[in-house]
Amino acid sequence: HKYSKNEIKEIIAKENVQFLRLQFTDVFGTIKNVEVPVSQVDKVLNNKMMFDGSSIDGFVRIEESDMYLYPDLDTFMIFPWATDENGGKVARLIADIYTVDHQPFAGDPRSNLKRVLKDMQKRGFKEFNLGTEPEFFLFKMDENGEPTMKLNDHGGYFDLAPLDLGENTRREIVLEMEKMGFEVEAAHHEVAPGQHEVDFKYSDALDAADNIQTFKIIVKTIARKHGLYATFLPKPVTGINGNGMHVNMSLFNENGNIFYNESDELQLSEEAYQFMGGILEHAASFTAITNPTVNSYKRLTPGFEAPVYVAWSASNRSPMVRIPAARGNSTRLELRSVDPTANPYTAFAAILTAGLDGLDRELTPNHAVDQNIYLMDENERKRAGITNLPDTLLAALDQFEEDETMVDALGKNMANTFVAAKRVEYASYRQHVSQWEIDTYIQQY
Ligand code: ADP
Ligand code: GLU
Ligand code: MG
Ligand code: MG
Repeated sequence: HKYSKNEIKEIIAKENVQFLRLQFTDVFGTIKNVEVPVSQVDKVLNNKMMFDGSSIDGFVRIEESDMYLYPDLDTFMIFPWATDENGGKVARLIADIYTVDHQPFAGDPRSNLKRVLKDMQKRGFKEFNLGTEPEFFLFKMDENGEPTMKLNDHGGYFDLAPLDLGENTRREIVLEMEKMGFEVEAAHHEVAPGQHEVDFKYSDALDAADNIQTFKIIVKTIARKHGLYATFLPKPVTGINGNGMHVNMSLFNENGNIFYNESDELQLSEEAYQFMGGILEHAASFTAITNPTVNSYKRLTPGFEAPVYVAWSASNRSPMVRIPAARGNSTRLELRSVDPTANPYTAFAAILTAGLDGLDRELTPNHAVDQNIYLMDENERKRAGITNLPDTLLAALDQFEEDETMVDALGKNMANTFVAAKRVEYASYRQHVSQWEIDTYIQQY
C-alpha cells in the first residue's frame, strides 16, 4: 500500500487539509461525492461512512438503502487548488461501496472491475494496462456562468496560439495534473475547433479508470476558472469531429508485455491476436457500455475519424482497432470506438472480459483491413468479413442483452439496471421532435 491510515492523518495535518471528499462512480459513469470536515477522519478511514444508496440512480431500492463507503487508501490525493483564503485544502479518497452486511456491493462498478481483474490474475496475468485518450471541447460561458454553444477558438490539429486560445487552459490542466501525480505524455489541440486532448501514461485498469474520473474533474474545474465550459460529450456540434476516448491496451505477466512477439510478421503474439479476436467478436455487444448515450451514436458516423465498422488494421486509422507502431513493452491494441461518456469501470470490465474470452476460445481475427473502409462498398466489406457497429443506442442495448459474456462482465444485476434505465432514456429521446425533422419535412408535407 502507498499510505497507511496514520500516514494519511499526518499528511492531512501537515498540508492543512480541511475537508475530505469520498468519491465513487454510479452505473452511468457519474461521479458522486460526499464531503466531510476533517474532524471525521477516523470515521472515514475506518469504513464507517454511510450513505443512502436509494438516492443514487441505479443503486438499490429504498428498503435496503443503507450502504457503506470503504475508501481505497491508495487513492488518497490532495486537490492542489486551495478552497479558502487561508489555504485550506480538500483531499479525496475513492471509495468502494459495501452493503449493510459489509459485503462488496454487486452494483458498484469499481468493485465489479476488481472482480473481473481477479479473474484475470487467476489466469496468470499480472496487469491489464490501459492508456486512454479522452478528448474534450471548450465552450465559452455566458455572464451567468452557463455554458453556451460557442466554441472558444478556431484552431485545428496541433495548432498554436493565437489560433489556440485554449492553450493557457490546457497548460494549467497539465500542471495541475502533474501536481496530482499524473505523468502527462502530451497535450495538444485536436482536429475540431475548440477541441483538445491530454494524454497521460498508461496504468493498470483500476488506476486507469480512477484517473479518467479524476482527469474529468480537473479539466472541468480548470476550464471554469478560465471562464470556459469543458465537455466530454461525444458529439456536441453537428458536422465536426466528436470526442473519442481511444483505449490503448496490453496484457502484462511477470515478464512484461505478452502482446509482443519478435518473430511474428507484425511482431504480435498469438495472445495479442486472440485477445483482439475477442474484442472484435464482442465489439457490437459492448458498444452499449463503451458508448452509452443517445449522442454517442452521432459520433460513430463516417467522415469524422470515428469508427463505424468492426475491423482492425496495423496501418490505417479508419478501423475500430488499430495497432500503433510501437513495439516491445509498448505493443498495444488501440480501440477507437469508445467515447468519454463511458463509465470507465464498466467499459474496462467489458473490454477485458471480451479479450479474455478471445484467449479462452483461441479466436483468430479476420484479416487486417489496410485500405480505407469508407471507400469499400457493402459487398467488398462483406467479403472481408467487416460488420457494423450498432447505429443507435437502442440497437446497441439489444445486442448487449443477447451477449451473455458481456452481461456477465457487469454482473446480471448491474447489467439489468443499466439496460432498463437506458431504455427509458432512449424512449424519452424518441419522443422528442428535433430541429432536423422540422427543417427537412415541414415544407414538404
Ligand atoms: P495516438 O497515436 O493514438 O495519438 P497517443 O500517443 O496519443 O496515441 O496515446 C498513447 C497512449 O497509449 C498513452 O496513454 C500511452 O501511455 C499508452 N500506452 C503506451 N504503451 C502502452 C501499453 N503497453 N499498454 C497500454 N497503453 C499504452
Ligand atoms: N476525434 C476523433 C474521434 O472521434 C479521434 C481523432 C484522433 O484520431 O485522435 O474518435
Ligand atoms: Mg485524439
Ligand atoms: Mg489515438
